[in-house]
Amino acid sequence: MTGTLYIVPTPIGNLGDITERAKETLSEVDFVACEDTRVGGKLLYLLGIKKELVQHHEHNKIKSAKYVALRIKNGESCALISDAGTPAVSDPGEELVRCCIEEGVKVVPLTGPCAAVCALSASGLPSRRFIFEGFLPEKSKERKELLAEIATQRRTVVFYCTPHDIKHDLSSMLDALGDRKVFVARELTKLNEQLVSARLSVAIEMLENGEIPLKGEFVVILEGASQADISAGEFWAEMSVEQHVSHYLALGFSKMDAVKKVAKDRGLPKSVIYDEVK
Ligand code: SAM
Repeated sequence: MTGTLYIVPTPIGNLGDITERAKETLSEVDFVACEDTRVGGKLLYLLGIKKELVQHHEHNKIKSAKYVALRIKNGESCALISDAGTPAVSDPGEELVRCCIEEGVKVVPLTGPCAAVCALSASGLPSRRFIFEGFLPEKSKERKELLAEIATQRRTVVFYCTPHDIKHDLSSMLDALGDRKVFVARELTKLNEQLVSARLSVAIEMLENGEIPLKGEFVVILEGASQADISAGEFWAEMSVEQHVSHYLALGFSKMDAVKKVAKDRGLPKSVIYDEVK
């Protein structure tokens, strides 16, 4: 076991989902790197395991990754866990894994719970090909850019959402992508698990009227673009440059960003588009 980083997925709500191999690994390593020592400590306590915990979170990840990688290089073994699910998927574990790889440390991943895959498997939406986006950017410009980028992707899209942001997230999707099918998975594997298949507009209504409470954790699975969406994405082929720019302005982009997007769509220099609409 010496000199190895084990990536150990932990339950996302139901302790019964811990694997035998995860328990064995957590019992045998020299120390455990975790996001929050209270959460990690509680899990180890419930499993009857006593182990040194090293905190590795968003605000110390660079420093702690170096510290943990050095200890492993010097011969110790470490299990990386996150607050829940598979470490390094949308959480600071990513930095530690990268650092270990760069330092030539052996990395061994275990299989186990992951909220994204758990929700996708129950969504009934095409799962052969999908895009994992994690959390939508908070900044409005980045959010619009990202949604515009996925507007013509046929693949199912997986998002992580917080209770605080989910209404805004779904509204942004509705504005940018139309009334697509959506699967909302709340509190997966927990007592109050709730799984809802609906159109975006209906899911937003359910969040507003409390049918889907703004409590717990959410994964949102969104239907990919249809052929009609994709054709609509190429609407500019039939339009003037001016109309094309107006389309992006109506979506809320600034004039400068609308011009940039039109230039990108058409493969033309921005100056050409500016000349047409100034
Ligand atoms: N690495 C984790 C994984 O593999 O699932 C995800 C970490 S990310 C920081 C946390 C997000 O995962 C939450 O905000 C939520 O979107 C999702 N999540 C985690 N547990 C969940 C659960 N029981 N039900 C629904 N979503 C969950």
